[in-house]
Amino acid sequence: MIDKTIEILDKLISIDTTITIDTMAAVDYIQELLDKSGARTHRVMSPNGKRASLLATIGDPVRAGVIFSGHMDTVAAAADEWNYPPHKLTLVDSRLYGRGTTDMKGAIAAILANIDALAASGNTYHIVLTHDEEGGFSAIRQLVASNFDNFFGAKPRGCIVMEPTELTPIVAHKGGFRAQINVTGKSAHSAYPELGVDAGEYIVRAYIALREIFKKHSESWAPDDCFSPNHTTVNIGTLCAGDAVNKIPGSAELSYMMRYLPGNDIIGFNNDIAKLCKDLDIDIKSKDPSCSVEFIPGVNVESFAADANSDFVKMFGKGAKVSFATEAGFFAKLGIPTIVFGPGNIAQAHTVDEFIEISELEKFNEWIKGI
Ligand SMILES: [Zn+2]
Repeated sequence: MIDKTIEILDKLISIDTTITIDTMAAVDYIQELLDKSGARTHRVMSPNGKRASLLATIGDPVRAGVIFSGHMDTVAAAADEWNYPPHKLTLVDSRLYGRGTTDMKGAIAAILANIDALAASGNTYHIVLTHDEEGGFSAIRQLVASNFDNFFGAKPRGCIVMEPTELTPIVAHKGGFRAQINVTGKSAHSAYPELGVDAGEYIVRAYIALREIFKKHSESWAPDDCFSPNHTTVNIGTLCAGDAVNKIPGSAELSYMMRYLPGNDIIGFNNDIAKLCKDLDIDIKSKDPSCSVEFIPGVNVESFAADANSDFVKMFGKGAKVSFATEAGFFAKLGIPTIVFGPGNIAQAHTVDEFIEISELEKFNEWIKGI
């Protein structure tokens, strides 16, 4: 079965599915494979009609099945930095090189190579393949909003998000939330500062207040020593104002990212930031009504904590907790017992010369057969 996995992986790697590129060629190929095996398939087009997610059921839809979840997209690969062609599977010693081998076309290829065995087991399995996981998680969000789980018939009894964990079950991960604060001031010649409104001053006030508000909220958030670091964090990603030393800054912006523990309520924190921006907005408008301070919430990737009481989760044994985000939180929120579990090492994901050890695919193949 490993030969078949490598054959399918070879094809998947040859189809460039960088997040900026359409995934349709990959969807066509995978759907054809699934259709040939007698799976029931359904594609869900993205709003712009250029990409699609793919749903499939193997076996009797009336029985509660297990979902294998994956994403077809990858991060970009700068070919000139690579020692191997990123979009051609290259075998060197025990490793298969190519963009997406670890994250996460290797796992997808293994499932597709084993469809017939899964079908023959008499159990029911589902496949959920998304796009834009490396971008804004828009595909999984769209699936959840469209009640995609109705496609499965009976409510699935479990979900395996096949991110690279070296087949270590991951039972929790942090969530990720990003937001931006935009200040529109009024630019002026620095010889006549009274004619302008300094956007920089407002972004600095926002920065200092944000730190204080975070400190206040974080006191009520319980840490968890199974994570590293063991608490919810916030970082300022960008902070900029103005464009020349002899001008009053006419615009400024700040962006921040939170990595939050499951159970830490970040809504109150973000409400306070929204309130802060409202107060600053009133203040800046008192100087010039055309000026503004805006709070722009961005992408939120749900934190994830597996249901420790579920038999499905227990089946995987003792799990670990990690700081990187996956689509798991979206499935868990639907009440589907979920685990993150797949071949390959996350350390190779997103890197130059990304590879997966053949032994990882072999182990995953064995595991699929035994499920
Ligand atoms: Zn991934």
